[in-house]
Amino acid sequence: MADDWGFDTQAIHAGTAPDPATGARQVPIYQTTAYVFRDADHAAKLFNLQEVGYIYSRLTNPTIGALQGRIAALEGGAGAVCCSSGHAAQIMALFPLMGPGLNVVVSTRLYGGTITQFSQTIRRFGWSATFVDLDDPDAVRAAIDDNTRAIFCESISNPGGYPTDLEVLGRIAEDAGIPLIVDNTLATPWICRPIEYGATLVVHSLTKYMTGNGTVTGGAVVDSGAFDWSASGKFPSLSEPEPAYHGLKFHETFGPAAFTFHAIAIGLRDLGMTMNPQGAHYTLLGIETLGLRMPRHVANAQKVAEWLENDPRVTSVSYAGLTSSPWHQTAQRIYPKGAGALFTFSLRDGYDAAVRTVGALKLFSHVANLGDSRSLAIHSASTTHRQLSPEQQVAAGAGPDLVRLSIGLEDPEDLIADLDQALGS
Ligand SMILES: *Cc1c(COP(=O)(O)O)cnc(C)c1O
Repeated sequence: MADDWGFDTQAIHAGTAPDPATGARQVPIYQTTAYVFRDADHAAKLFNLQEVGYIYSRLTNPTIGALQGRIAALEGGAGAVCCSSGHAAQIMALFPLMGPGLNVVVSTRLYGGTITQFSQTIRRFGWSATFVDLDDPDAVRAAIDDNTRAIFCESISNPGGYPTDLEVLGRIAEDAGIPLIVDNTLATPWICRPIEYGATLVVHSLTKYMTGNGTVTGGAVVDSGAFDWSASGKFPSLSEPEPAYHGLKFHETFGPAAFTFHAIAIGLRDLGMTMNPQGAHYTLLGIETLGLRMPRHVANAQKVAEWLENDPRVTSVSYAGLTSSPWHQTAQRIYPKGAGALFTFSLRDGYDAAVRTVGALKLFSHVANLGDSRSLAIHSASTTHRQLSPEQQVAAGAGPDLVRLSIGLEDPEDLIADLDQALGS
């Protein structure tokens, strides 16, 4: 039944049922830290992962569990784990795969904070990232070595809105016997379901479109359930005996749910990047309207991008929904419902004009967020991509003359009027 439901039905019903204790129709906010055990035997079984149930909300919580079920359904995955932020989700995704001396091959076009996380912070774990232009399949293949444990990309990338060719990357990952990890924050499963292109893990910043109104910081990792973690010996955390669970082998014991169980039983237990039930509640509410909001975000973005492209004060617009974009074909093939609602444009008068325009906007808010019902603007080079070198900024699509827009759900005429006055004469 649930597997046959359409997107909007899943967005409202998947992962939830009337509350077994009270019949409450909306998912209750289980604002509790702990759960009473039936007896010592019950408690022991839960701690041994011999029985699935609730112990302590760092690991599992029914409100968060409902959200996990809903996101897994929308992405077409076998399971999902929610966590405290999109950045936490990235670490949670890599944690079971990586170890000292191992590397991940990643796109040069990523959210600035992710570039910093991958180029600097993960090195403290002894992990490393090899940055490549994912539009060049030969370069991706050449970057993969015996120590590579994953390929990581954004489906539609922040800030330039570049669409990634998941079809090509899915094949490269499969040939190499490593998982493809896709950050699907900007596309959302309404536009694209990366698992259909061979992604093993899908990560989300739920902070953005999934919640959709700038109220929550949250993240999720979805597992396709299809990767054979035991085939190559490269993923011992999932295939070999786990000393912290009396020699339990996650893949052998949990099959397609191995990654999800590991992410909860080891990842959340020991890293502690747990979501909170209140946040999960808001995200559940947001997701109910994802299928109504995303078409409006995309249609508004298309209108605003077309208007900007035809304005003489603007030199270029990086939006793959425009026929002039070099990525238009890729967008049409992999993201036929639209190229998202985040893009950049550059101004005839360069850096100073970009900074001035952001300051002059009245309806657009000048904030470091995206995927809000409100339209947002930012000058990426001095903010979200500030820690990057000038070369990294240009490669990421966040050069100094660019303004990034996150197009919201307002009337597009009002957004265009605001941009018109802010661009000045
Ligand atoms: C915002 C963002 C992140 C980080 O998410 P947080 O919830 O802010 O930690 C990761 N990837 C992309 C594409 C983002 O836009």
